[in-house]
Order: sequence, then structure tokens, then C-alpha cells
Amino acid sequence: MKAVCYYGKHDVRVERVPDPQILNPRDAIVRITSTAICGSDLHLYDGVIPTMQRGDILGHEFMGEVVEVGSGNTRLKVGDRVVVPFTIACGNCYFCREQLWSLCDNSNPNAWMAEKLYGFSASGLFGYSHMYGGYPGGQAEYARVPFADVGPFKVPRSLTDEQVLFLSDIFPTGYMAAENCQIKPGDTIAVWGCGPVGQFAIRSALLLGAQRVIAIDHYADRLALASRYGRVDTLNFDDVDVPAMIRDLTGGRGADACIDAVGLEAHGTTVDAIYDRAKTAMYLATDRLHTLRQAIASCRKGGVVSIPGVYGGWLDKFPLGAAFAKALTLRMGQTHVHRYLPILLERIERGEIDPSFVITHRCSLDDAPEMYKTFLDKADGCVKVVMKPH
Ligand SMILES: [Zn+2]
Ligand SMILES: [Zn+2]
Repeated sequence: MKAVCYYGKHDVRVERVPDPQILNPRDAIVRITSTAICGSDLHLYDGVIPTMQRGDILGHEFMGEVVEVGSGNTRLKVGDRVVVPFTIACGNCYFCREQLWSLCDNSNPNAWMAEKLYGFSASGLFGYSHMYGGYPGGQAEYARVPFADVGPFKVPRSLTDEQVLFLSDIFPTGYMAAENCQIKPGDTIAVWGCGPVGQFAIRSALLLGAQRVIAIDHYADRLALASRYGRVDTLNFDDVDVPAMIRDLTGGRGADACIDAVGLEAHGTTVDAIYDRAKTAMYLATDRLHTLRQAIASCRKGGVVSIPGVYGGWLDKFPLGAAFAKALTLRMGQTHVHRYLPILLERIERGEIDPSFVITHRCSLDDAPEMYKTFLDKADGCVKVVMKPH
């Protein structure tokens, strides 16, 4: 089959690789009808995520048709149309039973790598480095889905691929980020990063009853997309002092909750952002946390800072003193996709949101190398790329 493979920093190639096969009785093979490039794939593309190997198949947002089912899987049938969560979960361990699906204890065969770094391992992930299990990803014609009697979620034919594909990651991720804010009527939520996850965090905050969202980015087209659906103020961080503006917009109190949908490769022009850039360039620091510092500075006392953006290492100049003094709650982590799939499918079916609003580019697998570059550069108004492998 054809697949999009990683070969190092800014080097992805479309290659012929062996078709995936059933390895365990609970597996299924999915013929992929739609797949997407995620903002977190750009961290791989930039070479900042460790334990990637040459030839690894990328992609963790995919859906398609079941074409083969293992002998121990009684839940799926050949022909079922499914969306596959990017986090892999066994369904039986302590964490799965607690609905903490992205923390599954049994789905990462390379748990020892994460344990060395973090003490414990989270769940395995599709297409996201060997530390997260080394599972071949979904930017391919087919994928093997482990624990396929737990993860893949059947979706009705009445909805198009583009309406349900993002249930695999970015819609639940944005939604969990907003839910973590414990939104009350009247709340103002500030969201850094108007990429795909930021867009879903913004829309989810409004769905969950926020009075207003303040969206922060420096791409005019992304800010325009964020404000298209109302109750959203936009700030361009190149033009304004973001924490000062947020104070002004909230009567001096600060945002009730702040969402960092940027993560470890933050850009900025302030002194601390330049410091981060210099230290990470010299390999003296692992993450650039300029956004997170702004979020902590801009949050009201007793508020929540919610972090869907990916961080990987040990944070330098992290303002824990400010977080402590203001009694902030910090919430973060990979998305418990399995928990949100049914709830969000219902919201789509009720017409509350059509997730296809973020799509700006559609292409075939062959265009992947060019599209990674376009998406990285935010060129041509690129917000979200969907690929059709067949
Ligand atoms: Zn993703
Ligand atoms: Zn589990």
C-alpha cells in the first residue's frame, strides 16, 4: 500500500510499504477513506519529538471502512464505517475503566521509554513515535487498529467523512480543553492559537456557555475564521501586549480561563520568547513556553489554565510562583477521545456544529510532502488538510 513516511526533519515521503495484517485477535484492518495532517504532526515534522525512526508511517486522524476483523473481535463487522480515536485503549485496565482512556496502561508496548522520561507511560498513539508504541499511522491506504473492539466508533452514513473525521482527535481535543475550563454562564475564555485545535476549543467554549472568547494568533485568516461565528474578540500578538489587552477587555479582572492551544513550539517577539528560542536552538531547553507564560499571566485569580497544546520536556522559566499566588488550576493531557466521541457525534447530528468548517485544503496522499510544508508555513491560508487515500 501507499503510506506517508517520516525520514527526518522536514522530510516526509510517500512510499510503497507492506499492507498491514491482523496480529492480535482483537485487531481490525481499516481501509482509510479520509485522513488529516494534525498540528501535532508538525512537531514530528520539525524533528522535536524524540524516538521517531526513518520510515515510520505518520498520521493519527483517520476513518474508513472495516475490511478485516480478528477472530476475537465480536463488536465490528466487515463493512462497518468507523472513526478511529488517535489514542489507543484496551478498555479493561484501571485507567480505561475510570474513563481516562488516553492513560491506558496496556496499549503502549514501549512503555519503558516513557517511564524512563516521565515515571509512567500514557497510552499508545497512532503514528506518533516509538515512545508512544511505534504504531504505524493512518496517513496511508490501510491501517491496523489494535483493541478494535474498544476504539473504532461507528458513524452513520447520513454524515459525510468531512463532518465526522475530526472526531478522531481535534474536535474532542478542543472540546476537552474547553470542558476543563469549567465554564459558567458569563465567563470569558481566552484561547491562544487559532489552528485547528484552537478553532475547536473556541467553538466548544461557546457551545458550553461561555459569554465571550478572546482568540489570540498572528495570522489574519485564522483570526477571521475564529470570529466568524460570533462572540469572539481577536488579538494579534504582533500588535498588542496580550496580557494587558485581556485585562482591559475583562474590566481589569483577567480571563476566567485560558487555553494554550499552541504547545512547545510557541512563537513570539517578547523578551521571554526570544530567550526560549535561543535556549532551545542551543539544545539547552526542551520546550518554548512563551504562550503558557502569557496564559498564566492573563488568567484571573482562581481561574483555570487548560493545556491541549503538546509539551514534551522540562520547562524553563515556568512561572509557578504566579500560578501559586493566583491559586490557578492547571489541567492538561492527551484527549480521552473515547469519552467524547458519542457526545460530540450527537452535537454534529443535531446541527450544533459542522466540523468541516476548518478544512482549507483537500488532496491525495501523493501531495503529502508538499502539504506538510504548506501547513507548516501557514501558506495559502492553510488551516487544515484532509487527504483521500483512495
Ligand atoms: Zn492530532
Ligand atoms: Zn486500558
